[in-house]
Amino acid sequence: MMLRYRLIDCARGTDTVGLLELLRRWQFESPAQLKQREVNALEEYFDALRRAVPLFKDCARFEDLPVIDKRFINQHRNELMNSNFRGKTVRKKTGGSTGEPLVYCTGPESQSYLWAGLLLSWEAAGLKLGERVAFLAGSSLYATGYKQRLYYALLNVKVLSAFDMSAERMRAQLATLASGGFKLLYGYASAIHRLSRHMLDGRRGCGHSLRGVVCTAETLTPAMRRDIEQAFGVPCFSQYGCHDAGVSAFECEHRNGFHLISTRCHAELLPDGRLVATDMANRAMFLPRYDTGDLVTMTGRLCPCGRGLPLIDEVFGRQNDMVVDVHGGAVHSEFFTHLFREDAAIRAFQVVFDADRLVVNLQVHPQYLRSTEAASRGYRERIAASLAFDDIQFVLNQPFIELANGKHRFVLRRPEPAAFEQGRR
Ligand SMILES: [Zn+2]
Repeated sequence: MMLRYRLIDCARGTDTVGLLELLRRWQFESPAQLKQREVNALEEYFDALRRAVPLFKDCARFEDLPVIDKRFINQHRNELMNSNFRGKTVRKKTGGSTGEPLVYCTGPESQSYLWAGLLLSWEAAGLKLGERVAFLAGSSLYATGYKQRLYYALLNVKVLSAFDMSAERMRAQLATLASGGFKLLYGYASAIHRLSRHMLDGRRGCGHSLRGVVCTAETLTPAMRRDIEQAFGVPCFSQYGCHDAGVSAFECEHRNGFHLISTRCHAELLPDGRLVATDMANRAMFLPRYDTGDLVTMTGRLCPCGRGLPLIDEVFGRQNDMVVDVHGGAVHSEFFTHLFREDAAIRAFQVVFDADRLVVNLQVHPQYLRSTEAASRGYRERIAASLAFDDIQFVLNQPFIELANGKHRFVLRRPEPAAFEQGRR
């Protein structure tokens, strides 16, 4: 199996295999040892940056560098490129569905970390390298070119599309899962949750051979995790990443916080909780102190698993996951997550708003329609106490609005029709 990985590395110019072997050992070093590795890497990174980027030549210390965002990077793209870099440069583009799109460059070391970090998280979820993985995802997680298809074949990964999640399609996906000898299911939290609800509601088993489920790209709420574990009868893990910022973090067997791969990523928290990160492995283009826009907490506690990698306790989601009223009142999407999470009837929700109107769309089992309608009066009052909207509406079991990239958003401003497509839910 290792031969297959080495073939992929060879074709891509990466060293995923070598890095994975290092990370397997490094992750269990003491926090002090790992901190020293990070400090050393940061010093070396900052030296290289100052040699290559005149823009930052007056910064004496790393901490003097400005915190940068997508706009800054787009404006200074050429100046941030490393003129001393001789390796293969990979051009990347992040989606424009939320905020400003970003075009940036990265190199083989970051790409190796991307894959090695993923494999490390799969191993923590019980996968042995080489075993079959089913991958339920939309287009932002997998590219569709022939090269990608070849990689997935070599990696023993079967891709199942998360775009079509009709009942008929889900039956076929479950049949595939049952037949393929898969040991891990990996993919979008909302898609895996939808598949789980389909199983629970229809009392459908799936005769699979999975050892674990790993969710990524979206928030996994406690209710979603419960449903997924009940449906598949195996532990469900969450993963958190932000590739442009070098953030790659995974849940270990304790599933209480995300271990951040700190040999790649130097993480800082701003006073408001925003995660600012530096991908020290990206030597093609310098993106120091990059504002991820994600709100997280890190307490410095130790994990009983023995891994010395620092823990991100909680990810509160993106800054643009905010509902804002015309008077400037604002609440984070977590407000709604907390509001609805004790209500067992509510499986999923989406809040869509514009200047005048806020619409809460709740997904409930038909037997709870009446009781949820009654409960929504209380929810409306609690929302009205925090946000000033002329019109607050509740609708039940309407289709969710999906982003063009297939990700689920818990809250969103009413979109421009061209940028979005109505989900077929
Ligand atoms: Zn742990």
